[in-house]
Amino acid sequence: MAKKDEQPAPQPLPSPRLLPWHSAAISQLRQAWSANRLPHAILVQGAEGLGKSSFAAWLAAAVLCERSTPESLDVCGSCASCALIKAGSHPDLLWVAPEEDKTQLSVDQVRAACEKLSKTSFRQGYKVAIIEPAHQMTPGAANSVLKTLEEPTPGSLLVLLTSRPSSLLPTVRSRCQKLTIARPSESEAMAWLQQLSGKTVSPALLTFSGGAPLRALAYADGQFEALNQHMLKSLRDLLSGEADVTQVAAEWEKDALIDRLVWLDLWLSSLARAAIAGTDERVTFPGGPAHLPSPSRPLNISALYSMVDRTRALKAQLARTALQRELAVESWLIALLEALAPSYRGGAPVARAG
Ligand SMILES: [Zn+2]
Repeated sequence: MAKKDEQPAPQPLPSPRLLPWHSAAISQLRQAWSANRLPHAILVQGAEGLGKSSFAAWLAAAVLCERSTPESLDVCGSCASCALIKAGSHPDLLWVAPEEDKTQLSVDQVRAACEKLSKTSFRQGYKVAIIEPAHQMTPGAANSVLKTLEEPTPGSLLVLLTSRPSSLLPTVRSRCQKLTIARPSESEAMAWLQQLSGKTVSPALLTFSGGAPLRALAYADGQFEALNQHMLKSLRDLLSGEADVTQVAAEWEKDALIDRLVWLDLWLSSLARAAIAGTDERVTFPGGPAHLPSPSRPLNISALYSMVDRTRALKAQLARTALQRELAVESWLIALLEALAPSYRGGAPVARAG
């Protein structure tokens, strides 16, 4: 085990890697490159789990690669520049990410990146700085970036990565060229997942992952299936009265609570949509088989939507504050039972005091 006072080892940079759904963004970049119109600042935006980091690593490596020519922007993998990138020690590349245990990017970190861009290149080529995630810059850090954007130095490339572009300063956003990494189609994503995981994956897994294949891949080893089965069992037991809110809250709290809330958000949204369409018999996790008994009376649509809101609020709260997690989950479960009870128990209360 490392001693407490030891310096943490430098984080390895993400490897340059292109994924099938990056192709539109890549051809946009190559066009700009061939026309000698590569912007000095690019905002790479797209959901989590689409490989934005590996895309940005590829972009930096390609711009710095000694074998890239005006006709071809690519990563050769064997020139001196590519070797320096592999070793994580290219002097003209700086990757800024939150330090360990921090979520925000400090003004000092970002200022260092901006300074690198304003200086002369060590290797007579481009200077590249990557800021990830850009929406987590402190206001001071964002102001530093703004100055660099207003007075760019020739031969410099600033790449900002974000899954939440609307959380960036509008003045920062408007001074960058936007490059969107779009989600692949369901069939493209499923084919890729199947190939990489070597097994048949359920469309429910892709739904759970928000259509983002890398996220889905992380769960494809059976984690999602186990979570799915456990959530269904909890809900069945709760609705039938075999388990009470205290038991269920304790089980959820001790393992993968955030994943469970993501699952519940999707499940409740799907229930609400089914209720609107009048197809209550499809009480199912999106993409999965039907799993709960059909309700005896129509579900209350507005109660379902307020549960969706409550789920999202709880998820955000858990990320922000040291909440009494188990108690918070218990009161969420009581609210759920109140929303579902009229349809499942003919109006009888199903919540039992813990
Ligand atoms: Zn190279």
